Amino acid sequence: MNPKKKKRIKAELASDYGVRCWWNCSVADQFSFEQLTIDHLRPTSKGGSDSPENLRLACKQCNQSRGDSLSPPQQRYRSSSLNGYSS
Ligand SMILES: [Zn+2]
Repeated sequence: MNPKKKKRIKAELASDYGVRCWWNCSVADQFSFEQLTIDHLRPTSKGGSDSPENLRLACKQCNQSRGDSLSPPQQRYRSSSLNGYSS
C-alpha cells in the first residue's frame, strides 16, 4: 500500500468508524488520527485483502499484539466486547 493510498484509506475508516481504536481497548478514544494504524481484520499473510471491508483503525498496541493472527488482541487493557468483529 503506498502512503497516499494509506492516508486516504485511514481517512475513510475514520469517517466510517470514528477516530478511535477498533478493538475498544481502554485507551481506544485517546488517539489522534496520526497515531492510529491500519489494522487488517484478516491479515494479508492469511489471505486478507487491502479492501476497506477488511481494514479498521487500531492503536499500535492492539495492532502489534495481534501480529498476523486472526484473533482480536488479547491484552488486559482491552475493556469491552468486540462489537462487529465477525460481521
Ligand atoms: Zn487499541
